[in-house]
Amino acid sequence: MKIALVASEATPLIKTGGLADVIGSLSQEFVKQKHDVRVFLPLFSAIKNRYADQLKHIGFFYTLGQYAGIEMMKLNRVTYIFIDNEALFQRDSIYGYQDDVYRYAWFSHAVLDTFGYLDFIPDVAHVHDWHTAVLPYILKHKHQADWRYHKVKTLLTIHNIRFQGWASEDLIDALELPRSGDYMHKGTVNCLKCGIQVAHKINTVSPTYRNETLSSEFGEGLENILWSREQDYTGILNGIDLNYFSPNKSPMIDIHYTKKDVKEGKRKNKEALYECYKINQTISDPLIVMVTRITDQKGFDIVNQMLTELLTNQVQVFILGSGDHFYTDYLHELHVHYQNFFFYEGYNEALAHHLYAAADIFLMPSKFEPCGLAQMISLAFGTIPIVYETGGLKDSIIPWNQYEHTGFGFSFSQFNKDQLNWVICYALDVYRSGMFPQLIKNGFKEDFSSKRCALSYLELYLSMVV
Ligand code: ADP
Repeated sequence: MKIALVASEATPLIKTGGLADVIGSLSQEFVKQKHDVRVFLPLFSAIKNRYADQLKHIGFFYTLGQYAGIEMMKLNRVTYIFIDNEALFQRDSIYGYQDDVYRYAWFSHAVLDTFGYLDFIPDVAHVHDWHTAVLPYILKHKHQADWRYHKVKTLLTIHNIRFQGWASEDLIDALELPRSGDYMHKGTVNCLKCGIQVAHKINTVSPTYRNETLSSEFGEGLENILWSREQDYTGILNGIDLNYFSPNKSPMIDIHYTKKDVKEGKRKNKEALYECYKINQTISDPLIVMVTRITDQKGFDIVNQMLTELLTNQVQVFILGSGDHFYTDYLHELHVHYQNFFFYEGYNEALAHHLYAAADIFLMPSKFEPCGLAQMISLAFGTIPIVYETGGLKDSIIPWNQYEHTGFGFSFSQFNKDQLNWVICYALDVYRSGMFPQLIKNGFKEDFSSKRCALSYLELYLSMVV
């Protein structure tokens, strides 16, 4: 199949979160399965600077009166096609600008023109989140005269329904599109709603989140629109690249270990971590970590309420992340007052891998979680997750059953600090009872591979093109 993955980020080129991991691992898998896949991304400054000598200039055209350069690069057998426009994409960050909705809508517009320019007409144009969700609408209204585009089917994947891409109707005029009800929602243009309405199929990143988003509690106002497309709406659990997120192969850590010597590997990584960050803690005490965006979505309202209580236990807690100052200010304060608490503010991929490798317990009490990759990554490193039972966390983590010795994590079902505290204490008891090797073993048996995920997508693509 000819597949176009159209997104705003992709590993290993540019990443702010799990979306990038998914695009990176899916493209790798599709190549392995011998499909003709191209990943379309804006040419951000970070990519331009880092890969300057590998980019191949293919040509240019004008789309909506603006220059669109096409640069191409092959990396690890995946073909990337970049749309270059310095005014829109030569900036310090990839998100966070007032004209973000226009930037990504323009990018989607240019990608469709690029299909024709390169004569690469995909069977499936797979768009992701609000950034590229208007592509199906542009396809429908601007490319009908060109027979080559008639076969293109569109799939919209919702990675997080909270972010929808709102704009005034000037956007539609700027894109030279007809006005219609397809994109309007509560008086504004809503890119995600537009994609839900127009894409041939829609999916999200776990079966439970799929069902949750059909309710007013999780649907962020789009539940009724999703209900109207219910037959075309599915949930596919994400997977991870097990070559990259591997204690044996990760290029980000110095001390590697295998499934057979987890205990020894973790001890050495813990020693190195404590030495590096001057943490004075007994190695045999459990290390609990978080690697995360620091927002209320990730559960910080209850985490911050119970941290001081947790820190009275014989544990070391290490949080790596960045986000809302309301939460990070408090974490900095705790760091000063508690010897057994370390807070590293920022984004640091090497440290993230080191924490996955060194930790005993991974804390991920997200209030809502479309899929979540971090809990799968932690299991790949033999680190036991504690999660709230929502979305992809519910779909991926089977709780420990002390009678049958099944399961490989811990979960709680009511979102409050007492339940969180209770489940952590229970996990610590199980840790002290010496049962963790069994949980780790059980976790290794689960298939969280991107291969499993890619095969599910291929099945969905096939159902669309026949
Ligand atoms: P989300 O996409 O909602 O942020 P996921 O769990 O799906 O959450 O994916 C998060 C990804 O980003 C994981 O690969 C995680 O290790 C990584 N990550 C999150 N925060 C940081 C950070 N501060 N430093 C390094 N990696 C991070």
